[in-house]
Amino acid sequence: MPDIASPRLSRLRGFIGDFTRLVERSGDDEAALTDAGRHLLADLVAVDDWLPDAYAQPDPVHYRQYLLHCDPFERFSVVSFVWGPGQRTPIHDHTVWGLVGVLRGAERSIRYDLQPEGGPPVAHPPELLRAGAVEAVSPRIGDVHAIANALADTPSISIHVYGGNIGAIHRSVFEPLTGQRKPFVSGYANTTLPNLWDRSATAAQAA
Ligand code: FE
Repeated sequence: MPDIASPRLSRLRGFIGDFTRLVERSGDDEAALTDAGRHLLADLVAVDDWLPDAYAQPDPVHYRQYLLHCDPFERFSVVSFVWGPGQRTPIHDHTVWGLVGVLRGAERSIRYDLQPEGGPPVAHPPELLRAGAVEAVSPRIGDVHAIANALADTPSISIHVYGGNIGAIHRSVFEPLTGQRKPFVSGYANTTLPNLWDRSATAAQAA
């Protein structure tokens, strides 16, 4: 595990500290939280040198989601999404606020409006998100979307932040032709987390 002592993990450690402070400060003000959170996430994905390889591995068949951090009170979680060539999510909701920041490659995001009487979700025009771009979702501003890797021959990676322990939240996916809702709980691909706290290399340098 050569990444354990990477000083570059300090970027992620700093982001988590800043985001924890932001959540403390914002309370129930979701708009203030996501507005400021966008900037923190934009700074995190502006430089692609910190994500350990273990959390950047695509799967041949399905996109992967690796938990990088969950707040001890489950107020927010940070997840690395890794998309193999051509991989995509189903149409889905979140039920909490979410921020998506593209770290590597490019992604195509399509928002949907659910029809009150049922029927197929109505698609908005697709948006191309290149590395460095950040977008937000939530029940307040539009919570239903689908994301795909925009690259046909290369993995793409995005860092997502959600207003809860997203892998354990009861959510829904929607059939594109009928709008039929199906419950799902996403879980995570990993069983261990990046070690943000081995600061021995820095400590040794300072000695
Ligand atoms: Fe999503």
